[in-house]
Amino acid sequence: PEVITVAELAKRMGEKGADLVKELFNLDMMVTVNQTIDQDTAELLVEQFGHNIQKVSDADVDIDTSEESDPEETLKPRAPVVAVMGHVDHGKTSLLDALRKTSVTKGEAGGITQHIGAYQVTTKDKSRVTFLDTPGHAAFTQMRARGANVTDIVVLVVAADDGIMPQTVEAINHAKAAGVPLIVAINKIDKPEANAQKVRERLLEHEVIVEEMSGDVLDVEVSAKTGAGLDDLVEKIALQAELLELKARPDRDAEATVVEAQLDKGRGPVATVLVKRGTLKRGDTFVVGSQSGKVRALIDDQGKQVKEAGPSMPVEVLGLGGVPNAGDLLTVVENEARAREVAAYRQERDTEKRTALAPTSFDTMFNKSN
Ligand code: GDP
Ligand code: MG
Repeated sequence: PEVITVAELAKRMGEKGADLVKELFNLDMMVTVNQTIDQDTAELLVEQFGHNIQKVSDADVDIDTSEESDPEETLKPRAPVVAVMGHVDHGKTSLLDALRKTSVTKGEAGGITQHIGAYQVTTKDKSRVTFLDTPGHAAFTQMRARGANVTDIVVLVVAADDGIMPQTVEAINHAKAAGVPLIVAINKIDKPEANAQKVRERLLEHEVIVEEMSGDVLDVEVSAKTGAGLDDLVEKIALQAELLELKARPDRDAEATVVEAQLDKGRGPVATVLVKRGTLKRGDTFVVGSQSGKVRALIDDQGKQVKEAGPSMPVEVLGLGGVPNAGDLLTVVENEARAREVAAYRQERDTEKRTALAPTSFDTMFNKSN
């Protein structure tokens, strides 16, 4: 038979242990707070105190994450989300920096500092591309393990003077496992020892067949140093994105994926999220992982406060109750009570998972009515 201590039951009911003991005494049971009672007695007590007895399941409390899809007519094109991956020192950071500079408006001379781990550039034909700042391969795996596939396209950076290296192969495998199309950026072509053709040939060994080798993988020769080929790269990303027909519904409560999160000394818990669908607005109440929160401020990739963020827009969120994990889903809910309820439920569920010893039927039986 299931048993629980009076103290534990009192805690779950939000009542004083002594009050439970008194009630038990009235029922002719002499127990102290540290003694256990059986399930029938516990149910009786819960009823005496006027709480609801309820079998609580995920479906009752948690948000239904079985992605009900949005009606076709509500969908609007959205920017592709691009991750730049490749071997260390092949030029990922340089390439991202160079791409960002091409999008900086004239007059905004000098270096602009990047504020968050993702940013958007606007192409010449006014379409937008969201770049994820090189998530380490480990972070990419972690996000995928959480079912968060935020990346639409992987740009594989291969230095033309160095060729295919272990992390190049790793990146290829990540993209394949995630079912995400690759675009090969053959970098450092300004170097005299660069050999782009050799890179294309060696890619064949990993079943990456670029157009020139009569395959369908797009490839571009670039130099992050001189800027050569960058427009071409952005154009090919836009082309690939068009083939993917990426769409999302902007006019609904937002769902967003956490790309990174940390505790900031001055600002508290901060998360960079990518909006999947809907529009995230200042003042929205939300649940993210097992944390609840209310959007206090949204900050874009330029460090500017914005009132809202639509699909594929990366934005920093302030106003979280705690630090979530990369890959967690942020969901806007109707009010703060609901947000707290879901967060509390998930926290308890997380604890349960950690302590397999927990008496599970008791854990799910009581739902405080207050
Ligand atoms: P990451 O480790 O992939 O992020 O590589 P980095 O962007 O840090 O670049 C590694 C080194 O390669 C740095 O010294 C860069 O200046 C250099 N580098 C990157 N891109 C180019 C390029 O197109 N041409 C040349 N010559 N050097 C480059
Ligand atoms: Mg780097």
